[in-house]
Amino acid sequence: MALSQKIQTPSCTYEQPLGLFINNEFVKGVDGKTFEVINPHNEKVFVSVHEATEQDVDRAVAAARKALEGEWKTVTPTARGRMLVRLADLMEQHCDTLAAIEALDNGKSLSMAKADVANSANCIRYYGGWADKIHGKVIDTDHETLTYTRHEPVGVCGQIIPWNFPLLMWAWKVGPAVAAGNAVLIKSAEQTPLSALYMGNLVKAAGFPAGVINVLSGFGRVAGAAISSHMGIDKVAFTGSTAVGRQVLQAAAKSNLKKVTLELGGKSPNIVFNDADIDNAISWVNFGIYFNHGQCCCAGSRILVQEGIYDRFLQRFKERAQQNKVGDPFHPDTFQGPQVSQLQFDRIMSYIDQGKKDGATVEVGGERHGTEGYYIQPTIFSNVNDEMSIVKEEIFGPVCSIQKFKTEEEAIKIANGTNYGLAAAIHTKDLNTSIRVSNELKAGTVWVNSYNMISYQAPFGGFKESGMGRELGEYALNNYTEIKTVRIRLGDAMF
Ligand code: ADP
Repeated sequence: MALSQKIQTPSCTYEQPLGLFINNEFVKGVDGKTFEVINPHNEKVFVSVHEATEQDVDRAVAAARKALEGEWKTVTPTARGRMLVRLADLMEQHCDTLAAIEALDNGKSLSMAKADVANSANCIRYYGGWADKIHGKVIDTDHETLTYTRHEPVGVCGQIIPWNFPLLMWAWKVGPAVAAGNAVLIKSAEQTPLSALYMGNLVKAAGFPAGVINVLSGFGRVAGAAISSHMGIDKVAFTGSTAVGRQVLQAAAKSNLKKVTLELGGKSPNIVFNDADIDNAISWVNFGIYFNHGQCCCAGSRILVQEGIYDRFLQRFKERAQQNKVGDPFHPDTFQGPQVSQLQFDRIMSYIDQGKKDGATVEVGGERHGTEGYYIQPTIFSNVNDEMSIVKEEIFGPVCSIQKFKTEEEAIKIANGTNYGLAAAIHTKDLNTSIRVSNELKAGTVWVNSYNMISYQAPFGGFKESGMGRELGEYALNNYTEIKTVRIRLGDAMF
């Protein structure tokens, strides 16, 4: 199979790389395997890409190690930063193509995909700014010793990303790792390999030395497992399901105890108090669950509404959810495209069926949308209880539950009654309520009077089973640096 192919999307035609990107070159996998990529809008295969197996992971690790111990080591932090900034500029120049790839491959609407590209470029540029601001401290221990710390790169980083934000997750992972001077191999999700490969072209054009950024397309149980158990990888960063996160952590523990960061699932509460601005709250609640078709680890899938406004809120929220335009990602009015794959479609539909069997009330939706493509109607369940799987488990689709609460204490108790702790939101006009409640919520991010407002400047990650470590902001750099203490004895021998 060729190493690239012309692809026509409804908005542009472009040349799609298909090979693995190792050592700044697109190459075939050692085993010669390929796999198909499906358009979720029409369920048809439209291209195949080369597949990485264990030996390709070995090749990428060797390339990264060589870069790390060779040319990359000699590149100054300022030059490193400039390369990242150049990469961000290139991403903006290629915005229309990258967005079309995301819409085609993932099913997200073209307009949302353009926002993803802008956020991804900003994230890379932000970390470009950090590259020459990563430094240790001088610690005044005693008069006869000079003590200082160095923040050194961890080494070769294996990064495993999901399919819900293929380009954005690429940026969140590569940005801090490369800013801190590491070399990476990043494995895209098997459902959405295309934008990561396209980034290979831009990486090369931005001037990164060969081997600093390697991109692998492949399956989790093959290439992903090879990364998490690899003896030559110093750190693994994973975003995906909690179940796979556990496997990655176990593989790291059983191999070389590589450093691990995990950004996992969620079942995030979105709490609306009686005094909330109801129009704003409805917009944010709607966006909180239906943005990206509910395929967000931080999706606000448990909506808790105080009793004084519950009936009015539910009525208005139903109207709003029904107005969300579901359809072709390339149509300018589309808000919600198809789910990413048949597997995800089936999983979500089985949760919906289970909710119905458990006796929850379908207020809106509850069915497939149309007859072709992995489309699902925006769905709201009421009359739920804490034992139902639709309330307890992450659905990762356009499905939420709505519950009534009386008091602030009750809302906090319900909100925290989950093994997850990725995000939460509060809607209120009372500043004291927002501070009191946000202090009590066990979640890595709390939004007040908004939702899904993630900034590359602020840390993001989970409490409890939603993960380990933080991505984004200055905090993410901690995951990508080893701290070395150097103590220089100035005085004579003591012993
Ligand atoms: P989802 O269930 O939403 O598809 P996953 O957690 O299965 O999410 O996938 C997220 C990423 O993890 C993907 O890149 C996938 O290939 C990878 N992955 C899946 N299984 C494994 C595994 N056993 N080890 C390492 N990575 C894996």
